[in-house]
Amino acid sequence: MRLNEHTAMSGSNTRLICPLTASSPAAMREDMTAAADRGANAVECRLDLLARIPTDEQLRQLLADPPVEVIVTCRPTREGGRFEGDETERLRLLARAADLGARAVDIEIDVPKKSRPTAAATILSHHDFQQVPADLESTLAKMDASAATVNKIAFAAAGPQDAMRALDLLRTCKKPTIALAMGEAGVISRILAKKFGAYGTFAALTAHAQSAPGQPTIEEFRSLYRWDSITPATAIYGVIGHPVGHSMSPAIHNAAFTAAGLDAVYVPLLIEPGADNFNRFMDALLARPWMDWRGLSVTIPHKENALAYVGAENSDELAVKIGALNTITIGPAGGLRGDNTDYAAAIDALCIAMGISRKDLAGKNVAVLGAGGVARAVVAALVHYQAQVTIYNRTVSRGEKLAEEFGARAAGRDALDALEAEIVINCTSIGMHPNVDACALPEIPPPVKVVFDTVYNPVKTQLLTQASAAGCKTVSGLEMFVNQAVAQFETWTDTKAPRQVMRQVVVTRLRI
Ligand code: NAP
Repeated sequence: MRLNEHTAMSGSNTRLICPLTASSPAAMREDMTAAADRGANAVECRLDLLARIPTDEQLRQLLADPPVEVIVTCRPTREGGRFEGDETERLRLLARAADLGARAVDIEIDVPKKSRPTAAATILSHHDFQQVPADLESTLAKMDASAATVNKIAFAAAGPQDAMRALDLLRTCKKPTIALAMGEAGVISRILAKKFGAYGTFAALTAHAQSAPGQPTIEEFRSLYRWDSITPATAIYGVIGHPVGHSMSPAIHNAAFTAAGLDAVYVPLLIEPGADNFNRFMDALLARPWMDWRGLSVTIPHKENALAYVGAENSDELAVKIGALNTITIGPAGGLRGDNTDYAAAIDALCIAMGISRKDLAGKNVAVLGAGGVARAVVAALVHYQAQVTIYNRTVSRGEKLAEEFGARAAGRDALDALEAEIVINCTSIGMHPNVDACALPEIPPPVKVVFDTVYNPVKTQLLTQASAAGCKTVSGLEMFVNQAVAQFETWTDTKAPRQVMRQVVVTRLRI
């Protein structure tokens, strides 16, 4: 593949470019081999990150007979790099790299035309580490009109909607282009670069060797985000949250897409708290039907915002009663549908363990410990199926409010001694890592036959250990966690979810 061929139409030639950030030329050369071994198609030698300006011989050795395409960059401090020396010296170094066989050199857009090296292809670049440049489109137009071979624009993203602006550039550019939104909120511009036919995207060798914020590693691109399978037709799914970096959902759903043979990718979407931020993102998404968004998971703090945006009339009845969505399905014409797979996941985990159907919950005496978000979904579902529910919460007034809303009873935790329920469901965070010795119900009284702990880390909590010892049937939060992901997958894709694969991802991630 020659550098000056426009790859925007196929998407399949988008390079995974590994920036080399070592401080010595020898270490940089070693990393070049490691990057090629891990599957990078090109490397970017960041000469500005070397501890000293390389000698001619060091540069020759660095660039001799490389295992992959080599781009050479010597980023000055004015564009976010570390080169503080003389500009003439910097340009001489880049010209020398071009003479020594570098496939391309990266030149900032403010370098005068007459000073740009001519012996190699040029990547004309502009970086803004603060914001989306006000002149984004006109900067791209200038680049398109230049003699450079490749355009590169990178800017800071305040939200994933800014990353969509980078993807817009890939649709309008007239020559091979790299367009990236930096930071965790911009990561979709990196992952989806291949779908939209970018010239390349940057992938770090290790998590500690990022050359810009928000850059996944080569391993993450290939194993977690299905890089090798992404095509122009790939459907997009994602999880909205804040924070979202800890979410296991990308690993679970991407593994499921692979196992089910679906052309789809699932990405993290960091959206600042607040309905305005949520709405801005959704508006940007719906304005771009060409992106192929098909489904969204929604987590804290946006579940209520999701219901307000999708609307009660387009959402599941029980989800509306709960007041929160965790699942949005996007139809081909942009129509939205809202669901809450949390409640179904919880009661199905319970019913499967008890060998009963949802209808058999009618009349069962259930104690729910806690009155937070999870308790709300569990109580709504139990009451819906006509169970007799008592909520035991530390803050009694909160428990009473929840009970009143759904037609349950409420009590304080001091009433747990006299508990008469057949089923106990822990919806508090008691016993969750790292407080693994804490127990949500210190004594298991005789009427209790089934104990369900929604905590999934650890899978076997102190509560479940004690319940087993008391002869009770136990249900782990892991089953609920897997159930909600399975339900999302099936809602979106109409395909049977590979449950075992999804469960194994969670088990592996929790290192059970
Ligand atoms: P939340 O809204 O913050 O509610 C936390 C609840 O725990 C409140 O009722 C709180 O009582 C109670 N609580 C916390 N610390 C306590 C303590 N030391 N003593 C007594 N009560 C205490 O949280 P959430 O979103 O409902 O999540 C609750 C738990 O569910 C999480 O910790 C997680 O382990 C689990 N979870 C499981 C899944 C799954 O799929 N399996 C999914 C999400 C969450 P107050 O009202 O008095 O503060």
